[in-house]
Amino acid sequence: MFSKKHALISLAALALSAGAAFAQGKGPVIGVSWSNFQEERWKTDEAAIKAAIEKAGGTYVSADAQSSPAKQLTDIESLIARGAKALIVLAQDADAVRPAVEKAVAEGIAVVGYDRLIEIPQAFYLTFDNVEVGRLQAREVLKVKPEGNYAFIKGSGSDPNANFLFQGSMEVLKPAMDSGKIKNVGEAYTDGWLPANAQRNMEQFLTKNNNKIDAVIAANDGTAGGAIAALAAQGLAGSVPVSGQDADKAALNRVALGTQTVTVFKDARELGRNAAEIAMQLASGKKLGEIQGAKSWNLGPKKQNMTALFLTPVAITKDNLDVVINAGWASKEVVCQGV
Ligand code: BGC
Repeated sequence: MFSKKHALISLAALALSAGAAFAQGKGPVIGVSWSNFQEERWKTDEAAIKAAIEKAGGTYVSADAQSSPAKQLTDIESLIARGAKALIVLAQDADAVRPAVEKAVAEGIAVVGYDRLIEIPQAFYLTFDNVEVGRLQAREVLKVKPEGNYAFIKGSGSDPNANFLFQGSMEVLKPAMDSGKIKNVGEAYTDGWLPANAQRNMEQFLTKNNNKIDAVIAANDGTAGGAIAALAAQGLAGSVPVSGQDADKAALNRVALGTQTVTVFKDARELGRNAAEIAMQLASGKKLGEIQGAKSWNLGPKKQNMTALFLTPVAITKDNLDVVINAGWASKEVVCQGV
């Protein structure tokens, strides 16, 4: 016959094995909510996050919102139901995601806003300096075209990064705009960051200006690809400077070939590792302000006091492609294909 003690032990064993279905590591479960995997970089971010969580003894669980803000809300709830003690959230839509994040923090679950701002003070904000990315893009394009008609393909309007990038670019271009040397002849957001929408943005700018576009500030490499396709259709690819960011392999190759002027290298492996380490620390009780390198920041649209960590982006042009090659980000064969 089972004693009471035995019954308790087997109950505990049952609970443990049920728990093990959620958590293989000794440490906490970390839930990661992805917006989509449209751009090449996010798979790199994911691999880095997963590896660092597992290295620290935690368990990685994830969900992909497949570009749907509504799905991201239920994704976050299901990550919590799967035992997440901390969440890393790449927001598809900064405003739409708020209720789920507010609910998580109310339940005592730590949240790291990943790459894109979620302006809730109880959430950590980890990203590259996006205003600086915008400055780097404009600076390199301005070097090539100090005068003329500029067009701006800004990225998704529901992603706060689009405005940070534009802000940084305008800061650099302002003196030349004020003196009349350069002119803003078109700016548009790019729904869902889709290259096809960027191509449409660019076609409209070209039509409106009788093809007299001298430079394009495109917010990322995907949108740069769309813009360059539209330029190519008019025989203008390579003669009109275009920016981007992410150091996508296709974009690095375009930089080498001369159809794209600049991309911005943001080492997603570093961002991912930092996010995992921060989430693990927060899950084990560390306070936001105790994260090493964290600083206060309140330059978001809602002027909330956030605790943030910014990594530094690097501009990549034809002259320093060796930076990404030496970093093991892309091979020379891939970067220089067809050159
Ligand atoms: C990221 C970029 C990315 C874009 C589209 C932005 O928030 O900072 O790196 O290209 O989203 O996914």
